[in-house]
Amino acid sequence: AAGPAQAEIFAGNASTGLVASGLGKQVAEAGGRGVVGKAAGEAAGDYAPLSAVYRSPGILFTDLPGFTRSVSRRDHALVAPESHSWQPQAGWQHSLVTHLVTPAFPMGAQFAMSLARMSPGGTFTGASTDAGLERLVLVIEGSVRLSCQEAEGHLLGPDQYAFSPAGHVFGLTAPAGALLLVFERRYRAPGAAEANGKAPAFFHSSILERETVVPAGEVYRLRRLLPLSPEHDFNIHVMDFAPGEYLHGKEAHYNQHGVLMLEGQGIMRFGDSWYPAHAGDAFWAAPFVPQWFGALGATRTRFIAFRDANRDPAMGGA
Ligand code: MN
Repeated sequence: AAGPAQAEIFAGNASTGLVASGLGKQVAEAGGRGVVGKAAGEAAGDYAPLSAVYRSPGILFTDLPGFTRSVSRRDHALVAPESHSWQPQAGWQHSLVTHLVTPAFPMGAQFAMSLARMSPGGTFTGASTDAGLERLVLVIEGSVRLSCQEAEGHLLGPDQYAFSPAGHVFGLTAPAGALLLVFERRYRAPGAAEANGKAPAFFHSSILERETVVPAGEVYRLRRLLPLSPEHDFNIHVMDFAPGEYLHGKEAHYNQHGVLMLEGQGIMRFGDSWYPAHAGDAFWAAPFVPQWFGALGATRTRFIAFRDANRDPAMGGA
């Protein structure tokens, strides 16, 4: 069936897309010579996809056998949605996790970024086996109930998140199921003088509650989900672009990135590779890989990005 996009392409032409493409003419000529036959029991051809090839949702590269946009290079990676690998993980009950970034990347990512899908009644317990890990959990869909002494029973919905510092006893339950984005990192404490002896504290908030800033020289809107204070060794950036907006910076910095596109589409550059990207795509970027993004399309583009912070890279370590 001709959708709006197809109607637009052939606007001003009363003919069908088939005729406009030239194929209709060939079919008509062949029919005129009487050479078009149909064997008994043979199904008639359905060539609609040919005439709908432009901007049709009916043909997607992700439907092609064996085709994926996912790549894993020395200094960056793209994990497209068709490459998700959902699996159980200790600590998550009635839940499946797909890892988007882990320390196993070739240049050794210093964090993990995962999606966790909790079935109704699913639970997570986060302190007994991984006391060195700090964790930020953002609700994408559904809701989770917090289990920790600071916010026992508090319900988090979409766009709301919780930060649990290393060693914090922290759990989740998803009464009706949930999809979560999870960032984890082995906490790297600063020197005692650098952070005035302060340690990161548990808190919960929402993307909408965070202050919106426009970084110098840029046009996109930035929200930071964690405080800037020096006891934190990473931050999570939520970046919003209107259609056509792009990064003016062409960064190549020591910080690593894990990026998940939450809305919209555009072109993401890492190194010499330029990736058409849309919501659901996840990226990892090693230190000093040149990077850039431009937003395209009709609606807002939002992505969320991990960025390690506040530690002197000359000190080495993670
Ligand atoms: Mn960057």
